[in-house]
Amino acid sequence: MTLPGSSRTLALLAVLAAAAPPRLTAQQATIAAAYGKAADSIYRAATGDSLAYLRLGRLVDTFGHRLSGSPSLEAAIDWILAEMSTDGLENVRGEPVMVPRWVRGPESAQMIRPRSAPLRMLGLGGSVATPKSGITAPVLVVSSFDELAQRAAEAKGKIVLFDAPFTDYVAIRRFRTDGPSAAARVGALACLIRSVASASIRSPHTGALRYDSTVARIPAAALSVEDAMMLHRFQNRGERVIVTLRMAARTLPDAPSRNVVAELVGREKPDEVVVLGGHIDSWDVGQGAMDDGGGSVAAWEAVRLLHRLGLRPRRTLRVVLWTNEENGGAGGRAYRDAHASELAGHVLAMESDNGAFNPKGYTFAGSDAAASVVKEVAALLDSVGISGVERAPESPAADITPLVELGVPGMEIDVDASRYFWYHHSDGDTLDKIDPAELARCVAAMAVMAYVVADLPGPLPRKTAS
Ligand SMILES: [Zn+2]
Repeated sequence: MTLPGSSRTLALLAVLAAAAPPRLTAQQATIAAAYGKAADSIYRAATGDSLAYLRLGRLVDTFGHRLSGSPSLEAAIDWILAEMSTDGLENVRGEPVMVPRWVRGPESAQMIRPRSAPLRMLGLGGSVATPKSGITAPVLVVSSFDELAQRAAEAKGKIVLFDAPFTDYVAIRRFRTDGPSAAARVGALACLIRSVASASIRSPHTGALRYDSTVARIPAAALSVEDAMMLHRFQNRGERVIVTLRMAARTLPDAPSRNVVAELVGREKPDEVVVLGGHIDSWDVGQGAMDDGGGSVAAWEAVRLLHRLGLRPRRTLRVVLWTNEENGGAGGRAYRDAHASELAGHVLAMESDNGAFNPKGYTFAGSDAAASVVKEVAALLDSVGISGVERAPESPAADITPLVELGVPGMEIDVDASRYFWYHHSDGDTLDKIDPAELARCVAAMAVMAYVVADLPGPLPRKTAS
């Protein structure tokens, strides 16, 4: 990777300025001239060591996965708070949040017919249990909600399996979130889905379901892609499939957790804030290294690095590691509520929650005027390939959605997520899936954007005043 030298950047700017159109606006020239050197030194420092990776390894190996309500999540939060204080970050604190507490318990799926064999499964987060003896029933496999509607008369008393190939996450996730209640509505006893995964070595992938309060709550689990496809093939051959599903999942009373918060207080406008973060909770499988240990550590390291470099911007930089993104979103809402009186001064909320893979740029939700500023900031990293800015019509990440809905400009780091859904929400989400150099580039991407936006003379212009 060629590092951007400020002279190179200036030479490039001169070339750009000479070409018409487009011409550099005064704003563009100012950002490049004012922050090119800082961006270079941040990028060099972030990519010059493996501290982020070492820290992520310490986090996920020591505490493992971190589901809301679990002792491991709270122990991880305690450790992070202590480390942040040692780093010299300011106003380090855990802000209280009550979170749902779902506990998986023992679970299994056993094929009874056409032959006896265990199926690889993971219960869906939030699922109810089966009776102790399990649910044994014939399986009806469908590929879509439409097919379920067409075959509704066949579903009563069965286990409905949605076997839909992965296309994109948001489209296919609907089978996980809405499939269980759709199956219950036509009389199914339980629901299975093909794991929401873009590749598989027979590992099931969990995730949250969403029960519709108007129908019965039935147990629901994800099968590995391979097992779902096999059951579908049996059905296509006219063979009767019978499965026994056993799940002991329980929902316990809500439990106390915390959003992790730490700051680098602004030197001129401490009440104006740039938020950057990830979510510290994870599913109860794997290590939550990708989702979202990597994003959390990238944001934390970004601010630690700026602190170490002595780069204190005009406005406050606030790291927020939200709790309970995966099965409730309570952390994002609690942050909004706890900071309601400050939100008019929130200049930007940035999250990394697509895996700390190689960053390509940023996804931005906000006004056209703000987007043009953000593009110029991103251009500071043009020579290292992190300068893309995609516009998003809505909030690009879950934890910042409550802020974006109130007018705060929102941003997510845009990464090469081509491997993300291979491991997402599965036992495969472990440290080895993250590349130290890519994680370091994520740190740089967050640090440069957060620092410059926090230091610009004026705030990012909002769509509407709030
Ligand atoms: Zn996530």
